[in-house]
This record gives sequence, C-alpha cells and structure tokens, in this order.
Amino acid sequence: MSELQFRRLWQIFNGLLKDNRDRLNQLDAAIGDADHGTNMCRGLEKAVSDLDRVPLGNLRTDAKTVAMAMLSTVGGASGALWGSGLLKFQLELPEADAVTMRSFVAAVRAFLDAVTTRGGASRGDKTMVDVLEPAIEVLSDADDDYKLEHIKVLAAQAADWAVETGPMVAKKGRASYLGERSIGHIDPGAVSMSLWFQSLYEALSEAE
Ligand code: ADP
Ligand code: MG
Repeated sequence: MSELQFRRLWQIFNGLLKDNRDRLNQLDAAIGDADHGTNMCRGLEKAVSDLDRVPLGNLRTDAKTVAMAMLSTVGGASGALWGSGLLKFQLELPEADAVTMRSFVAAVRAFLDAVTTRGGASRGDKTMVDVLEPAIEVLSDADDDYKLEHIKVLAAQAADWAVETGPMVAKKGRASYLGERSIGHIDPGAVSMSLWFQSLYEALSEAE
C-alpha cells in the first residue's frame, strides 16, 4: 500500500462516517447515548486535517497523527479504544512511504490486541471486536499478491458481521447496562468498524 492510498483510507473513512453519522447516532441511541456518529466524525475530521499538514514520506508518522487526533477528540469508549489501538498500530508501520500488505495486516492485528487488552471484549460481546477479529482472520492470509477482489469481499463480510451483532447481548461498554434489552439492536461501534474495512477497500482500489 502506498502512502497516498493510506492517506486516502482515512479521507474515505471520514466521508463514510459523515454519510453515516445520523445512522450511527441512532444505533447508539437505542443501546447507548446517541453520540457514536458524532464522536467518530469529530475525530476523523481532525485526523484528516492534521494529516494534510504532515510532510509525506513516513507512514508511521501519518498513523501516529491519526492516533493522536482520535485520542484527543473522539471521547467516550470508542475514543479510548480507537486511540490506544492506533497507537499500537502505528508502531508496526514502517518509517517509509509504502507498506507491504503483510506488515499492514500485522499492524491491524496489533490494533485488535490493544483494543482487547484495554477493553476486555471477546467476540460475541456485541462490540467492534465482532468485526475486527474475523476480519483479521480473513486478512491474515494476505500477502503482496493479495487480490483486490478479496478485500472487496471482506468489506461486504464486515458489513454482515456488524449486522450479526443485532441478536447478541451486550457484555461490554454502555450497552451492557441494558443486558438482554440490548438484543435486537445492531452495535454502532461494529458498524463504524465495518466502514473502516469498506474504506480500506476503496483506498486500495485507487491507483498507487
Ligand atoms: P460511549 O459508549 O462512551 O458513548 P461511543 O458511543 O463512541 O462511546 O462508542 C460505543 C462503541 O464502543 C460501542 O458500540 C462498542 O462497539 C464500542 N465499545 C464499547 N466498549 C467496548 C469494549 N470494552 N471493547 C470494545 N469495544 C467497545
Ligand atoms: Mg455513545
């Protein structure tokens, strides 16, 4: 992945979050406090505008810039989790203007490890982990011969995995206060995570 594609990933994610802000807030209204779309949009808006001021040439610095923007502006559970996840993610990226798919996937895995260490969620707890963990299993086969078609399929699967949080009972975060009453509502953090995989696909579809 080139640095330009990497930066496009965050720009595309910002755009998709804006398009889905109201929907994410509505999902969070059902099982939380109605701010997930607003939280994520605030973070990505700052991340993308900060990135614009960072000189090209160092993917690790790019990712650290995104991490710091998310940590300082998102707030809530998702701010802490995305922030700590991205701080581990950036450490796995090279100080160069391109990253191999293998290293990128290792970085996403480090993101997941930080999220589960910090938040304690396992698969089935109705959180972003229900999208992130299966996605990494799919991605773990990817090397530099990866096929764009596979990432496209992954993005579609990620959207399905988010929907599959609907029947789950929330075990972590604010939604867990509802217990069984969280059944029947899709987790907003799982949806925003699936939009990140959609953004990954769209960014990789663009020219290097
Ligand atoms: P808050 O719950 O503080 O209002 P947000 O609404 O922005 O924060 O984010 C809620 C999302 O965060 C949830 O939908 C869920 O996916 C995710 N989340 C909450 N707690 C955890 C956790 N312990 N581990 C993983 N993800 C979590
Ligand atoms: Mg919330």
